[in-house]
Amino acid sequence: MKMVFTSEDTVYLHHLKNILQAKEIDCVIKNDRLGSLAGEIPMGVCWPELWVVNAMHEAWAKELIAESKKQSDEEHNWVCEDCGEEHSSRFTDCWNCQSVKAF
Ligand SMILES: [Zn+2]
Repeated sequence: MKMVFTSEDTVYLHHLKNILQAKEIDCVIKNDRLGSLAGEIPMGVCWPELWVVNAMHEAWAKELIAESKKQSDEEHNWVCEDCGEEHSSRFTDCWNCQSVKAF
């Protein structure tokens, strides 16, 4: 067993688990409590963790996860309608000409 990813975002972990399982990589999520113990445990200590069952899949799984993160970043990029500058989803205004993102 090898841990390949950890995040406080359980939904995202399940999304990654689906991606790995689609490639027939066996994996499990640990500490998946869906917030039922919120308030009883210190923040950040018990983040859900994604583990691959077969340690030989570790590198491949991490590659797929990195790929999936890259893709979701690209999907959210946007291009300013006024000046054509490309931005990541983190920005809501154009840093180049200050026009507001068009939805
Ligand atoms: Zn602009």
